[in-house]
Amino acid sequence: MRYWAYLAGKLVVAAAPLYGLLCWVGKQIPASKDPYAQLGLGMQFLLCDLELLGLFLLCAGALYAIVWDQRRRCRVCLTRLRMPVETGSWGHMLQLGRPRIESICPYGHGTLKEDELQILGLTNAEWTPHSDDIWDELCAPGRDAGQDK
Ligand SMILES: [Zn+2]
Repeated sequence: MRYWAYLAGKLVVAAAPLYGLLCWVGKQIPASKDPYAQLGLGMQFLLCDLELLGLFLLCAGALYAIVWDQRRRCRVCLTRLRMPVETGSWGHMLQLGRPRIESICPYGHGTLKEDELQILGLTNAEWTPHSDDIWDELCAPGRDAGQDK
């Protein structure tokens, strides 16, 4: 819930100045009801079209940056994920799997695994939450070995 609220907050913060820019561009468009009068205002319409294009690119870039940043945050504490590690290999794909990049939360909340190569567009990254007790995960291999005896 906190993760999605943070995303919504970032969208609102980015939308406020962009909406202000949209209002400013809207005021720049010359108001003329006569269709033939617009021929003399061609340069103003061209500038307004360029401003609208720039505003569209700015909005698309802001949305891309927000989503890019959000995908690389911890789902629990919203900290940027760190320590990306490449796993797998194309040469040993059958043994180790496809190459992936794993990033972890510095506070141990989880691991994000995403494909290194996005062939068919962005695939969803896999978030694996960790248990709160780190000793449980550290002692699990020894516990399994002890049960075999
Ligand atoms: Zn975290």
